[in-house]
Amino acid sequence: MSGERNGHVEKSTVLIPQVKFTKLFINGEFVDSISGKSFETIDPRSEEVIAKVAEGDKADVDLAVKAAREAFDHGPWPRLPGSERRRIMLKFADLIEQNLEELAAIDTIDAANLYSLGKILFINNAIELFRYYAGAADKIHGETLKMSRQLHGYTLLEPVGVVGHIIPWNFPTQMFSMKVAPALAAGCTMVVKPAEQTPLSALFYAHLAKLAGVPDGVINIVTGFGPTVGAAISSHMDIDMVSFTGSTATGHRIMQAAATSNVKQVCLELGGKSPFIVFDDVDVDKIAPLALNACLFNQGQICVAGTRLFIQEGIYDKFVARLLEELKTWVVGDPFDPNVNQGPQVDKKQFERVLSYIELGKKEGATLLTGGKPLERKGYYIEPTIFTDVTDDMTIAQEEIFGPVMSIMKFKSMEEAIKRANNIKYGLAAGVMTNNLDTANTVSRSIKAGSIWINCYFAFDNDAPIGGYKMSGFGKDMGMDALHKYLHVKSIATPIYNSPWL
Ligand code: NAD
Repeated sequence: MSGERNGHVEKSTVLIPQVKFTKLFINGEFVDSISGKSFETIDPRSEEVIAKVAEGDKADVDLAVKAAREAFDHGPWPRLPGSERRRIMLKFADLIEQNLEELAAIDTIDAANLYSLGKILFINNAIELFRYYAGAADKIHGETLKMSRQLHGYTLLEPVGVVGHIIPWNFPTQMFSMKVAPALAAGCTMVVKPAEQTPLSALFYAHLAKLAGVPDGVINIVTGFGPTVGAAISSHMDIDMVSFTGSTATGHRIMQAAATSNVKQVCLELGGKSPFIVFDDVDVDKIAPLALNACLFNQGQICVAGTRLFIQEGIYDKFVARLLEELKTWVVGDPFDPNVNQGPQVDKKQFERVLSYIELGKKEGATLLTGGKPLERKGYYIEPTIFTDVTDDMTIAQEEIFGPVMSIMKFKSMEEAIKRANNIKYGLAAGVMTNNLDTANTVSRSIKAGSIWINCYFAFDNDAPIGGYKMSGFGKDMGMDALHKYLHVKSIATPIYNSPWL
């Protein structure tokens, strides 16, 4: 394993985990798919097969939904006192902690998430998220209503039922925990479909959930492809809600399937093309590294990546020069290497897709400042790529590339920055870099996006809901908002004494 920085090669060794779980997880058991088919999951570092995983289909989804339905309608989970769900979820979190390194390594071979960050950040975030929602499980309650007409009324919060979670490949562990933890706390049962590129850690989590005491049928995992397993979930008559994270194109299909089946609830966390806006008054040395990471983190495969860098004209040249200087310290290489900042793209399809966007950027007249090529080594590695002279109408400024590609644009006034930042179909996140409080307040309230980070980026927190405006979707993950999306509000009324109703 090696990383490359100015021709310097670093070495590191990590024990690659043995893959233990490759079958579907239905009703508390690991089982083969009904068809007996399997698919290969590929290591993006070597392009080699890691494991063959059971390929689910509609019939397997039916079985998983049946188990989840039974567990919801007749099983203990939704009926347990919240404190008991909390106890089991805390145990689940402890078990994740005990297996932290192995889980981090699985997401590194499967998704190319940086191993060093997996150990200190990604898996830890999942542990903390399970603990956060465990703490909420016994605090789910409605309110007393102030009703007129001599009625006593109150609301009850009830779990929505069987949830289908359809998740992407960019952060397998975080996507899993973000969906599963609040739904568990709410008392729902579920069928989870991990992305076909990264099915491995979800199966490991299912095993840990069982060890923690999550009853059979509460969490079911069906691995497989979108048009089969994903479509079967979103059109299933016995699923009450689909919680989806992925591309806007798939979001359209899921919404359509939900509408034409049982009008199930949907929650869509979709694509993004977030602006990172830098005003003249910032400390360039502090903000340039932040801007670089905002775009390139996780190989640019993060929905909230700050891919449109708007720089105010007064510091434009200085800022771009500082970015390039910072880039010299940016290491592309094996994600197991602790010195590496950027690993390979998740698969061949994404690798080719990113390169085709780079070609399009050149063709449409943007200036390729640096990068633009694959690395000359095995694996799906692409150089960090920066374009300048990008105009708002170019494809690379409008479409989500989901790769290490930054588009830099210059602006004059705050009004212009707001207008151009909003000139996009997406609205997931934005960064506002300024020391002027008025500017920070005005811009953050004017940008149409679900998360605004002032003088920071990726400021995720368990308590901070994330989710989109516009075509970035609707509904929230994280925070108490995510718990509430898995709860129905029921209102109950009864006449009080001497009531005209009686
Ligand atoms: P994708 O939409 O292709 O796949 C996501 C999931 O949907 C996968 O599990 C896939 O198998 C499934 N799927 C595909 N076709 C389906 C269908 N017809 N019916 C049901 N399910 C189907 O997305 P991707 O390319 O794998 O992931 C990257 C996308 O995810 C990007 O657009 C990114 O912005 C988005 N994303 C959004 C967030 C967020 O919080 N908003 C977070 C991470 C990623």
